[in-house]
Amino acid sequence: MFVVKIGGSKGIDYDAFVRDLAQYRDYVLVHGGSSQLEEIATKLGKPPVFVTSVSGFTSRYTDRETLEIFNMVYAGKMNKMLVEKLQHAGVNAIGLSGLDGRILEGRQKEALKIIENGRKKILRGDLSGIIERVNTQLLKLLLDHGYTPVLTPPAISYEGVAINVDGDRCAAQIAVALKAERLVILSNVPGLLRDPQDPQSVIERVTRDQIEAFIETYARGSMKKKLLAAQEALDGGVKEVLLGGARGEAPLTKTLQGMGTRIC
Ligand code: ADP
Repeated sequence: MFVVKIGGSKGIDYDAFVRDLAQYRDYVLVHGGSSQLEEIATKLGKPPVFVTSVSGFTSRYTDRETLEIFNMVYAGKMNKMLVEKLQHAGVNAIGLSGLDGRILEGRQKEALKIIENGRKKILRGDLSGIIERVNTQLLKLLLDHGYTPVLTPPAISYEGVAINVDGDRCAAQIAVALKAERLVILSNVPGLLRDPQDPQSVIERVTRDQIEAFIETYARGSMKKKLLAAQEALDGGVKEVLLGGARGEAPLTKTLQGMGTRIC
């Protein structure tokens, strides 16, 4: 059993990814959609707003309208695009968001403590949160009957409100809850890079104890969240987390063979 997360940034070859993935059995797919979200939200006159927390993590500020566009793009366009490609490749995929059947349940953040122009500020009304529970019954039911779940944020709060959650951490939580052996996170970069500008500078191996230091030294932007997700997965019992690139042919197979960053 493994969980694979495919990113949503520019440059990912989804056809090649699905061709490769279709050869495997017994997995759950989680996906992103950031570049499509940016494009469509901008076309709709509502470009994304990013904020930086006091602890240095970047996230999207999600008001109600943004959340609706988020649903359109993630649970609509991206999710059905992947389900269609998988079905075309002979995989009986079923697309669901964390809202459906309360698969991904969590807590809405009360307020965001952010840094804006060097100053600390409290931001309210953000519809985002942290997943605290993965309700695996529905996932197991589907897997047991030969369906392949294709999952996406948002999650649902205990009060029944949709909340935006980070896709990488969402994949980590699912891997933990399903007792997956491996978590594979594929994106438009070939792994954790020593120099984000240099795709040749992949760091091949990271131990659990190095993660925090590497979040500080090498990772910028959303790569920090991937490392945090890796840490959460390992602490939850997942044996290894692999970060790999998805720009070319056989991205999953190559990553499983050790082409990216192995964290264990
Ligand atoms: P996705 O949306 O596909 O999940 P992201 O775009 O959020 O992926 O995260 C990957 C991005 O992280 C890369 O495109 C890269 O620009 C950025 N990044 C920052 N620091 C690093 C690093 N040290 N190694 C690799 N990528 C990095």
